[in-house]
Parts: sequence; structure tokens; C-alpha cells
Amino acid sequence: MTARVLVLNCGSSSIKYRLLDMGDGEVLASGLVERIGEESSLLVHRGTSRIERPGSCATHAEGMRAVLDAFAEAGPSLEGITAVGHRVVHGGSRYSTPVLIDDGVEQAIEELSPLAPLHNPANLTGIRVAREAFPGPPHVAVFDTAFHQTMPPASYLYAVPREWTDEGVRRYGFHGTSHAYVSRAAAGLAGRSLAETNTIVLHLGNGASASAVRGGVCVDTSMGLTPLEGLVMGTRSGDLDPALIPYLVRTRKMSVDEIDDALNTRSGLLGLCGANDMREVWRRVDAGDADAAEAVEVATQRVKKYVGAYYALLGRLDCIAFTAGVGENDHRTRALSLAGLHPLGIELDPAANAVRSAEPRTISTPGSAVRVMVVPTNEELEIAGQTLAVALGQRT
Ligand code: ADP
Repeated sequence: MTARVLVLNCGSSSIKYRLLDMGDGEVLASGLVERIGEESSLLVHRGTSRIERPGSCATHAEGMRAVLDAFAEAGPSLEGITAVGHRVVHGGSRYSTPVLIDDGVEQAIEELSPLAPLHNPANLTGIRVAREAFPGPPHVAVFDTAFHQTMPPASYLYAVPREWTDEGVRRYGFHGTSHAYVSRAAAGLAGRSLAETNTIVLHLGNGASASAVRGGVCVDTSMGLTPLEGLVMGTRSGDLDPALIPYLVRTRKMSVDEIDDALNTRSGLLGLCGANDMREVWRRVDAGDADAAEAVEVATQRVKKYVGAYYALLGRLDCIAFTAGVGENDHRTRALSLAGLHPLGIELDPAANAVRSAEPRTISTPGSAVRVMVVPTNEELEIAGQTLAVALGQRT
């Protein structure tokens, strides 16, 4: 039997999971428990058969129990799985590679929680519950920040007092497993060796980030100390003048928590036009909503500015790869983000761009110096692959 890896992604009120056959990457089971801790939770399991079941999981431990029950009831068996991979959002400067989890790693993830107060505690709870539920296989933490740890100081330093930097205030970047997977897949699709390919990855989902990858190595990315920096997102502002924060404190008498919440959950597309789902934003644009049209302009112009900046940084650009919910599905966002860039050798083929497909594909003209593509991301497969490598390394 080939290796099977269970990938777990525990959020503040959810557990998402996927069981993968590492021989061919086949998804053997997937599912989620959502609304953990709320009045009624919901489990959806797609295994040998499908279960959709409302419940009342008050804690992640109960949620994990429900997942195990679902595997027992609707298959496949988890007997003999090779390893469990955990998505962990923040690995700080400490983790540039995935790591076998022991009590010390758990403690480190806890110590890094101030940098990701919403995510790391939930990830850690998931790890603790899963290690108890599956004491047999090795558990591996795969960090969202790790791929970006290769950034040089010129990219990761903020121009702030050094003592802040010494305390960990710097740019880290997120969506690392996606940027790693997509930059590798882009080189493959272009038929080039990874070491000789320079790529800009545009991960445009509800959360969005760009990265500049030189020969498989990340040299810059748009998210920073937290996932708030960079592109305009569904509900996050992305880049803004930091002086806005004292301004809001002084004039609107807002508290730090109120500002934090507003910039993370009430800004971005939602703040600009009242909708954060790009499909709804386009519906409003098509119905003549001026705010929605402006929201699209702000968001796509921001993407274009990052493309220009990263092109300059890389010096030579071979590929631009769009990925995640918006990047993979929204041809209008892709077209606007790269509109007018043909003097830079970036030329979309409108017909190829309009094709709907779940496959990796090229969407630039044959004459475009830079190959533009859509590469569906697969963070779970990337996490599973990294997990397996650590687990096998551990055993030999
Ligand atoms: P995240 O993982 O950050 O939550 P996803 O990568 O799943 O986000 O992307 C979700 C977003 O993708 C949705 O909010 C929606 O705006 C967008 N999306 C999905 N399908 C389409 C589509 N066909 N056209 C435009 N946007 C889409």
C-alpha cells in the first residue's frame, strides 16, 4: 500500500481535513466540521460514502471525535496512515522548513501566537487534539510563513527602530505552501527547470498575496508581519498609510481592537462596495453599481503595481501564475490586473483567458515574452508532500 497522509487545517471554529494517497495524489477523503463552539455545528464528510450531519461540537476535541466517527462510519479506514500534516499559520523566523511535532514545537507555536492571535492558538488546539486522537503516526507542522523565510533583509525589514525588529517585528509573508506549489507547477507547465525560472505568483482568493520567486526561492512577498499587508482582499485593506491608525484613534476615538477588526474584517472589497465575494462584486458592477466598479479598479490596480514592482526586483520575468478562487476563476480580474502591460512583454490572449477549466493552462499569446498562466493551487497536496518527506526522513 502506498503512503497515505491526513492533512488537518484547524481554524478558530472549524476543522478541515483531507486524506491523500501519496502514490498518485488521489483524494481518498475530505471534509470539514464548521461552527465548532456555536449552537449547532455541521460535519460534511466525503469518504467511501458521504455524510452531512448537524451536531453540537462545543470544542475542537469534540469536532475531532466527530471526524474520527465519520471515518469509522463512512470510510476509508485511517488504520496505518503514514503521517498527519498540520497547517500552521505562523512559524516566525524560527521555522523555514516543516518540522516533526513534539512538545517543544507545540510550545514554540504557542510562543508565536502574539504574531497570529486568531490562527496559531486554533492550529495548536488542533495539533494537541489530533496527537491525542492519533498517537501512532508522526505529526508534522507545515508553516504558512516558511517558504518566505528566504527573503533577503531588503525585503523583510521594515524601516522602524531596530529594537522592534529584534523583537520579531518584520515581514514574514503567508500562503507559503500555495506560493511554493504554484511556482514549482508554473515552471513545470512552462517546461523549464525550476532553478532557471523567475515567477510572480498571484494568489487571489478571499485572502490575497503576491510573491516574487527567483529559481524556486522566494525573494519578496506582499503580506507582512500579519496577513493584512499588500493586496486588496475580500475584507482586508492591504497596504495603507500607517498614520491612518493614530488618525482614527484621535478623531474617531476608536480602540486598537476596533481598528484591528475594521481593517481585517470590514475593509477591502467589502469596505469599498459592501460585498467581499468577487462574484457578487461583478454582479453589482454589471448592474451599474459605481462603488463596485471602483472596488474592482482599486483591487486590480494594486495587483498591477505589485507585478511591476516584482518584475523590477526579479530583473527577468519568465512566468506570471494566477491562483486561488479569484485567480483561477475570474478572467475579468486577470485581464484588468495585466491590462496595458504589453510594453513589458506581458500579453494576455483574451480567448485563452476566457476558457473555464480546472486544469493548469497558459493564457498569454504565443508571442508574449512572459508566459502568463492559471495554476490551480493545491495546498493540501503540498502540505502532504512536505509532511511525508519529514515523516520518512524521521524513520530512516
Ligand atoms: P480563501 O481560501 O482565501 O478563503 P479562495 O481561494 O477559496 O479563498 O477564494 C474564494 C473567493 O474566490 C470567493 O470569495 C470568490 O470571491 C472567489 N471566486 C470563486 N469563484 C469565482 C468565480 N467564478 N468568479 C469570481 N470569483 C470567484
